[in-house]
Amino acid sequence: MQRLPAGDLERLELVGSGGFGLVYRGWSKKLNREIALKMIQGSRSSNMKKLMKDLMKERDVMQKACSDTYVLRLLAVYEKPEGSLIEYGLVMEYMPYGSLRTLFDKILNVPWALRFQILHQVALGMNYLHSLDPPIIHRDLKPCNVLLNKHLDVQITDFGLSRIVGATSSVTPSFAGTLSYMAPEALNDINYHPTMSCDVYSYGILLWTMFSGEEPYPGVHDMVIQRGVCEGQRPRLSHVDQYSDVRMVPEAKELMINCWKHKAEDRPSFHDCSKSTAVMFEAYTDEIVNAVRNVQDLLRQISLQDQYSEALGTCEDSSMRMESFIKGLGNALQSD
Ligand code: ATP
Repeated sequence: MQRLPAGDLERLELVGSGGFGLVYRGWSKKLNREIALKMIQGSRSSNMKKLMKDLMKERDVMQKACSDTYVLRLLAVYEKPEGSLIEYGLVMEYMPYGSLRTLFDKILNVPWALRFQILHQVALGMNYLHSLDPPIIHRDLKPCNVLLNKHLDVQITDFGLSRIVGATSSVTPSFAGTLSYMAPEALNDINYHPTMSCDVYSYGILLWTMFSGEEPYPGVHDMVIQRGVCEGQRPRLSHVDQYSDVRMVPEAKELMINCWKHKAEDRPSFHDCSKSTAVMFEAYTDEIVNAVRNVQDLLRQISLQDQYSEALGTCEDSSMRMESFIKGLGNALQSD
């Protein structure tokens, strides 16, 4: 794996923070391109050692996984080992449009052609991970962890909790993930071991978010979600039924219900899912080029508006500061 030395990365700007690290957007002089850096920073403490171990595990999984078109590519690792402060990070391609969550937060009516393309690409990416030998279980599949590249193609990411089947892991606990995307067996069995069908369950919930644009169970306490899911409750079907006239939505609803079935053995594999989503996406192939172009234009406009409001805020801020400076100066002159 290529290593980027300290000083190679410039123009670093914070874009977000995850469970254990910070994510920056920046420029690599050596790679001569825009990158995203997921980094941990700290002194040589035992907590830092654990974070390093976790990040290295994520690096190993990404290295195994990232030869697929729909899995985010790891470009290099970044390290600054000298000094009292250690910095270590994973250098990835920068995804300008953020995640599926960002897409639904920014755009109200995401075209159906794009929704079905995303569903199909996620199924293909997950099928790739599960078909590796040994397979990789993602364990945290959710809209925030599905990024979109500049063509709005899916890039699955965040392998911090992932497991390579068969590998003994002292760092990844069995109970881990995002509660509302976790399968009932992960919530109620203390001897539970993650399996591929847990990822399929998460995909079922992700399917629901593709109809509703929302996260499941808003405002509901974790304990209530845990109990409800184990009793067989799932997100509201009315969010899907309102679109039952839309082409391929009834088929997608059937797939969603199969994916979030209570018994792990009743859920389909991602191989089956990708066969179903291929048929659904096929029904929209004539519309996909325009759908992608329209959404790209919209996202660019929104980003320009955001930059404009930010700049305006800064101007307003400095003109207010100038105003109070002039007032203060006036008062000072008067009192003289
Ligand atoms: P957690 O790890 O706790 O589940 P998370 O998924 O938000 O949380 P990260 O994967 O560390 O955590 O991502 C943090 C933020 O950085 C997210 O908003 C994500 O969209 C953004 N991000 C991560 N990788 C990239 C990338 N390659 N390009 C652009 N943005 C990214």
